[in-house]
Amino acid sequence: MEPLTNLAECTPDELEAAVAAIGAPRFHARQIYRWIHRRGVDRFEDMTDLPRDLRAELGARFRVETPRIAADATSSDGTRKLALALADGRQIEAVFIPDTPSMTFCISTQVGCAMACDFCLTGKMGLVRNLTAGEIVGQVRVLAKATGLLGEPFNIVLMGMGEPLHNYDATMQAIRMLHEPDGLALSPKRITLSTVGIVPALERLAAEPLMPNLAVSLHATTEEMRTRLVPPNKRYSLHDILDVCRRFPVRHRSRITFEYVMLDGVNDTPEDAKRLVTLLDGIKAKVNLIPLNPAPGIPYERPSDDRVDRFAGILADRGLTVMVRKSRGRDIRAACGQLIVEGGTKKSAAQVMANLIR
Ligand code: SAH
Repeated sequence: MEPLTNLAECTPDELEAAVAAIGAPRFHARQIYRWIHRRGVDRFEDMTDLPRDLRAELGARFRVETPRIAADATSSDGTRKLALALADGRQIEAVFIPDTPSMTFCISTQVGCAMACDFCLTGKMGLVRNLTAGEIVGQVRVLAKATGLLGEPFNIVLMGMGEPLHNYDATMQAIRMLHEPDGLALSPKRITLSTVGIVPALERLAAEPLMPNLAVSLHATTEEMRTRLVPPNKRYSLHDILDVCRRFPVRHRSRITFEYVMLDGVNDTPEDAKRLVTLLDGIKAKVNLIPLNPAPGIPYERPSDDRVDRFAGILADRGLTVMVRKSRGRDIRAACGQLIVEGGTKKSAAQVMANLIR
């Protein structure tokens, strides 16, 4: 038997087609989209404004998949990390970061990640698989329900597990589905896409009608150092990434965020800070310094606050807007680069897990 179509993956148009295919009036599609995406309801029998016989018919023909909360941990600072189980049993993590000052959901786009950044725990897993658009959107629904924020304003950062531009189509489809007026009607201005900088995908993104805010993980000021820390740099160099950024259609009064993880004694010298200023010249940029969140298996240290402040000071003195990202949720391993779940493909992931479980 064919598996039932999962309506959580459908755009409103696709939902209309699905509804029409079972001989029901098309306008019910909008109601169903609202139930799923705006109210977080995934049982057809609970969609109470639909005729009873239609609910039964929908239940027999379709399903609505929502990631299931497999673990739920709250940090002493209020950050909350959910481990979410997908239909195939794979797991991902999604994080709620309150009062930043806004409410922020940190969402995954892949199970694992292929980028293999040297300081990132998720990178040690390797890529297990891409998430579907429905799975990306589903995380938002689950977080919003779990935190009581369904219907309230919140921001989304695509900074969980995975590289969003390495799963381009599903990521952009998710942004469109979140924007639907019958869904959460979320403005793309409330979404930040963070990427290592995959040049052809950045070029594609530059032409998107629904444009999220862009954050680029820079992390180094020379090609050599960046290739060591962020292996995709071999193919998509610092130079080429900054070139796209220089031409990127940045919204009025907006800027590209450049993320810079600070590794003690590696990329955090005053010379690095000065080079960074030169590199970003002519780009509408702001810099987000992320002092390393250390983890077992990660061969770097977090610099002292003094070192971070000195680096930030050099940027600020030369007119760059700079923020130091406060590390949140470290006690529950919810901080940047600390998201990892079992089932990774690489041996090193198993070793890392063994260290963590210890
Ligand atoms: N693949 C996307 C999203 C990754 S997570 C990207 O690379 O941008 C968001 C940020 O956390 C990235 O800038 C990433 O480099 C950073 N990060 C990864 N591991 C980290 C760690 N251990 N400590 C601090 N930041 C880390």
